Formats: sequence, C-alpha cells, structure tokens
Amino acid sequence: MRKIQMVDLQSQYQRIKPEIDAAWQNIMESCAFINGPAVKQFQSDLEQYLHVKHVIPCGNGTEAIQVALMALDLQPGDEVITTTFTFIATAEVIALLRLTPVLVDVNPDTYNIDIQAVEKAITAKTKAVVPVHLFGQCADMEPLLQLAEKHHLHVVEDACQAIGAQYTFADGATKMAGTMGIMGCTSFFPSKNLGCYGDGGAIFTNDDAMAAKLRGIVNHGMFVRYYHDMVGVNSRLDSLQAAVLDVKLKYLNQYIQSRQKAAAYYDEAFGENPHLIIPAKGKNTTHVFHQYTMRLQQTDRQKLVEYMAQQQIPVMIYYPVPLHMQKAYRDERYRQGDFPVSEQLCNEVISLPMHTELDEEQLQYISSHLLRAVQMFSL
Ligand SMILES: *Cc1c(COP(=O)(O)O)cnc(C)c1O
Repeated sequence: MRKIQMVDLQSQYQRIKPEIDAAWQNIMESCAFINGPAVKQFQSDLEQYLHVKHVIPCGNGTEAIQVALMALDLQPGDEVITTTFTFIATAEVIALLRLTPVLVDVNPDTYNIDIQAVEKAITAKTKAVVPVHLFGQCADMEPLLQLAEKHHLHVVEDACQAIGAQYTFADGATKMAGTMGIMGCTSFFPSKNLGCYGDGGAIFTNDDAMAAKLRGIVNHGMFVRYYHDMVGVNSRLDSLQAAVLDVKLKYLNQYIQSRQKAAAYYDEAFGENPHLIIPAKGKNTTHVFHQYTMRLQQTDRQKLVEYMAQQQIPVMIYYPVPLHMQKAYRDERYRQGDFPVSEQLCNEVISLPMHTELDEEQLQYISSHLLRAVQMFSL
C-alpha cells in the first residue's frame, strides 16, 4: 500500500509529469517568468471554466482577499463581517487594513456562515461580508446576497477551499464559487483543490471597473506606467505557476470527482456510527471536498489522533481554535462562549486524508482503523 498522506501531490504529479515538465521547459526557454503569455493563457482558461468575466491572478489567497478589500475603498474602523470558524487569513487581512473584523458563528451542519447571525451583526458601520466556502461547499449565498443588498453591503467570497463548487439559486441558475459576490478570492497553494507548485492566488469579478482597479492594485497601484494613483501592493502569479495551473485546470473536474468518490466511501463507512457525524451537504451547493471534516461525539479525540498516527494515518484538526479565541484577535468584544457552535466544532472536528489519489485499499485501511479507534476511545 502506498504511504497515506493528507494530500498526495507526488502521485498526482507522476500522472501528469510529461505535461508539467514540458510546460515548465517552455517557460525556461522563453525566460518570460513574470506576466508572460502563460499567465494570460491561464487567466483566460480560468475565466471560461468559471463563467466569470475577469480573473485577476495574484501572489496567494491571502493577498487576493487583501486586494479585494483594498478595492472597496473602506475606511479604518469600517466593519467587515466574517466567520470565527475559518483559516486565519480571512480575518488577518481585515485587521491589517485597519478595518474591524466582526465575527459570527456558523451553521452546525455545514460549518458555513450563519446568515441569521450575519443579520444580527450588521451595524451602521458594516460595509462588507466575507463568507468562506469552508472545506469545499458554498455558504448559503442566495439569502446572504439578499441580505447584503438590503443593507448595501459588499460581498467578497473567500473561495480558497472551494474552486469548482457550484451553487444553485431558487430560479435554477447555477454559479461557481467565487463568482456570486462583487468579488471572489481563491488560493492556488499546493494542497488546495487547484494547487500550483509554489504560491499563487486569484480574484474573480464580473465588474469591469472593479477588474481594472484590481489589476492596478496588484501592480503597485499603477494604472498608467509609473503613475501611481493609489497605494497598492506587489502581488503576482508567476509564469511557472500559471503553466502548472493551466495543465491542472484541465483535470479539475476529474480531481473533484476523485475527491467526491473518496468522500462517498467515508460517508458509507461512517454514516451509521453514533460517534461520528459525517459532513452534511448544503442544500443548494455541490461539495468539492477540499477537506473531509467530521465531528466526533463522546470520543477522546487526542487519543484517537495518536492511535491513527501510530497506524501511519495522518488525521488533522481544522481548526482547533476559533478566531475569537486566538491570541492576536482577542479583544474586549468577545469571550469564550460567544460562538458556541464554532467552539464546539473546534473541540469535535477531525479531518481525514483527502486528495485525488486515494485508492480503495487506502480508504479501507483508514476507515477500519478509524472505526476501531472510535470504539476504543469512546467515552
Ligand atoms: C488557504 C486559505 C487562504 C489563504 O490562501 P494562501 O494562498 O495560503 O494565502 C485563505 N482562506 C482560506 C479559507 C484558506 O483555506
């Protein structure tokens, strides 16, 4: 049996090695490392895949969210609502821009932003909402977009974990994760569903003026060469990464299917176990399973994770601490107990190996050991 990893990038590379190697060789020969044709090609291929007018490549997912928020011309002290159960990057850039992150709880089934909690958190200072499509399925965007419209709020989607997920509106229209708000952001970090071989990210928008602004901001606030109209940043996707991404984009739907197949295996193995709550599928969204994250009930999580590690099965905890309990983000506004669902999730979740290369033998090995561990360490 192949070694079990949370993400198996080596095996994935071996399958597409000739294409990737040739693509890299091309860039090396051309030496067009920055803003070369490979970046333009990937950009337009991704626009087609997402059915979005503009893809603005940038340096990573964190910068994508930062640049998106910079484009909104918010003022220090303006409030931006996001969830307390997410990766830190979402709130980090809000704080870095001297905006005020306002945290809200999540839905206990989908782990995604609770729309009613968003409504309660809106004040006169609220300017934007950043829903996170956590673990690979879309937040409930239709009611969120309606709420945002009513209160004149910008919606910037953090789609770093959900590229390729599709949301269906009540009228039957479907849209891809990251293309529903005024802007959407994604990450091409190697372990993400569409990952490059280094750092990368992108912003999506259907708004022409916003796209022009974003392209200026990622390039030092420069709209005409050497004329700088606003304070920008330097945030670029390089050609080598774009070339990898353009190869992998062709396989993205296939990769998503492999992940969904692995998830279906886990669902089947764990669905009936009273100690395990398998991830719920949101009503109107597909799930691309960036992570397979479930909840343990009355089970010693620490011992379970240790046991799994002894069997050479990595099990991760995404995420152990909600943002409002992180040292850097603690302030007088929040205390333990304020976001009970997120706090409970932080105590209960485990994420199993999830990637495009899991085979039946590995899935069987993981599942049987997990079931054994649950039995041994139930409380
Ligand atoms: C990965 C991730 C980011 C940041 O992406 P980087 O490319 O690592 O900067 C932001 N938000 C979420 C939810 C993520 O999973």
